[in-house]
Formats: sequence, structure tokens, C-alpha cells
Amino acid sequence: MARQLSLLSERAAATRACSYCPKLCRPACPVATASGNDAVSAWGIMGGLHSLTDGSARPTAEHLAPAFACTGCEHCQSHCELAVPVTETVLDARAVAHSQHLSPAAVREFVADLPTREERLRASATQLGASDEAASGVVVFAGCTLVATRPSHVAAALRAIEQLVGPASLVADLCCGAPWLDAGDLEGFRARAESLSDRLRRASTVIALDAGCAHTMNVRAAQRSVRARAMDTLEQFVAARIDRVPAGALASMGAFAVHDSCRAGRGMGAFDAPRSLVERLTGRRAIELAYNRERSQCSGGGGLLPITAPTVADAITRDLAELVRDSGADHVLAGCPTSSARLRATGISSFTLSELICELGRDRA
Ligand code: SF4
Ligand code: SF4
Repeated sequence: MARQLSLLSERAAATRACSYCPKLCRPACPVATASGNDAVSAWGIMGGLHSLTDGSARPTAEHLAPAFACTGCEHCQSHCELAVPVTETVLDARAVAHSQHLSPAAVREFVADLPTREERLRASATQLGASDEAASGVVVFAGCTLVATRPSHVAAALRAIEQLVGPASLVADLCCGAPWLDAGDLEGFRARAESLSDRLRRASTVIALDAGCAHTMNVRAAQRSVRARAMDTLEQFVAARIDRVPAGALASMGAFAVHDSCRAGRGMGAFDAPRSLVERLTGRRAIELAYNRERSQCSGGGGLLPITAPTVADAITRDLAELVRDSGADHVLAGCPTSSARLRATGISSFTLSELICELGRDRA
């Protein structure tokens, strides 16, 4: 417990900065905007944690609850002149809550269900024919969201990658550990990320079909001193071989907008790859949303918000869907499977790149 509390004391300068700030990043926070509650903005969360980081109060569930009302979108950080590490502090607060059994009930239930979720993942991976041996050469890492929701797209992405670069193997039975990290279970996160890294140790290249997994392994793991195998996103991998992508193959589909996902865009700076892919596949430039790149709008699906505040998460998705409709695009290329699924649920024609690859297969059939 002392170790977890020291996590927070190391954040005293960050929470102090927010306490004295006139909410400069407030307009950027999708949760505060959708809920109308400044207590769940970066300013509110960080200011509320200050009495814990300076040691003047003991943690309570009430103190820590706002830290679970954050999608981890990092939009506040792109507005912050002081480079305050909001999401890292939020994750530290969640770790304290987890270690002291102070997490919200919905999060505790989510954590209790994670072993069952892992069993389902292994069963789905077996159906996909994925190996559980150490993988070498080019390896495609599917990620648990895509395996659970769209397994046929995993298979299609694997086939498309093989057309681009030759044989590739699939790892689909392991998770990068992001759900454990989001829930504050740092040891659970470390175990999954390191186990996955062991499986991938002989790979020459690892391609993540879900940008959230790549961000977890490339960025979050390093922040927590967790050993993790670096990954490319599918978009980065394919964009680097764009001359092998059939030009204009999806021209008949109409115009695409690009939604920059929080993890691929703000998180890893991968803004250009989706735009070049849209242009190559459709023969026309991607339509820009009114808020794009560093200012891109969150879809509401991250950071366990759909579990802790589902109505707020849904309102955030509807705001993003409005932005897509206002753009006049026929479709949107979403940066991650979670955003894509949430946009589809509002009636938007949304695709991830692995989903678009399926369309490519249909076009050629
Ligand atoms: S994250 Fe930066 S801009 Fe936002 S409240 Fe804190 S100090 Fe102010
Ligand atoms: S990371 Fe996103 S959701 Fe969390 S406080 Fe910052 S702007 Fe709000």
C-alpha cells in the first residue's frame, strides 16, 4: 500500500498546478462537457486529488471516484501549457483505489470478470486458428476487442497483410493488459504485457490491429517500467507500403472523413497514415472533421467510461457522430475498433482499416 501511495505523492506538483489553474483545458474535456460537471474535468479531477498527493487527507472512495470518469483521451494535455501529466496521474489514482478496494463497484465487477474474458479470448483464438507458440517473422496482434467483436475482420486483415509482405502469423489469444491498467490493477497489467512480450520476442515486426494495444505497449508500458514489445499500428504498417495498396480500389464507396483516435493520434502522433490510406484507396483526399489531429474529439469509449458512466459515454459518442454528419462524408475511417463500433451504433457508416480491408476483399470477389 505504501508503494501505491508514493505513486500519488510523486504527483503533488502536477495536482498543485491544476489547483491554481483557471481551468484552461476545460473546453477540451469530453466528459465534463457531456456531463456538465467540472468536477470530472482535468481541473476537477486533479484538484480533487491534491489533498491526497500532498498527504493532508487519506484516500476514500469519494476522493478517488472522479479519476474513474476519464476516458484517457489526453485532449486536456494538448491544451495545457504546463505539460501536466493528467492521464498518468489518473492511472496512479486508480492504482491506489484498486490496491485499497476503493474502486467503484462497476469497476470491481469488471475486474472480477476479466478471467472469464480471457477464457473467451482463448476460445475465439482457437476458432481463428491462431497459434499459442512463440511467434517469429511478421506477427499480427489482433487485440481482444477485435477478436471478441469482429473475428472475421481479424482473418481478413491477416490475409491482406500476407498479400502485402508474405507469410505472417497471428497472435489472438493474449491481451496487452490495457483493461487491467485502466482498472488500476498494475500487477495484472504487468503480467499480461510481459507475457505478450515473451510470446512476441522472436518477431521481426509486430502489427497491432487495434491502435489502443499499440499505445498500451509503446507508451503506457514505458511509463510504468513494464517490459513491452513495440508494435506498429496496422495503419502505420500499410501506409509505409502504400505503393503496394491497389490505387482507387474503393473509389465507388464515396468520400471518407478521418477520425483521429486518441491513442493513435494524440498518443502516438500517427496522423498522416490514415489520410494517405484514404487517398490511395478512394482516389480523393480525406475530409477533415471540424476538430481533427491534436484537437480530435474522443468517442467516449476509453478508460472504462462506458462502465462507470455509460450515459455520459453515449453522449460523447453522439457529439462525435454529429461532427461526422456535419462533415458531409459518406463514411468515416475510425482510428480504433472501439470508436468504430460506437459510431456504427449511432448510425454512422464507420470502418477501421481492418474493416475496410474486408470491403476490399468484397470488391475483388
Ligand atoms: S491540465 Fe493544465 S490546463 Fe488543465 S487544469 Fe491542469 S494545469 Fe490547467
Ligand atoms: S484525459 Fe480526456 S477525459 Fe480525461 S480529464 Fe483529460 S480531457 Fe477529460
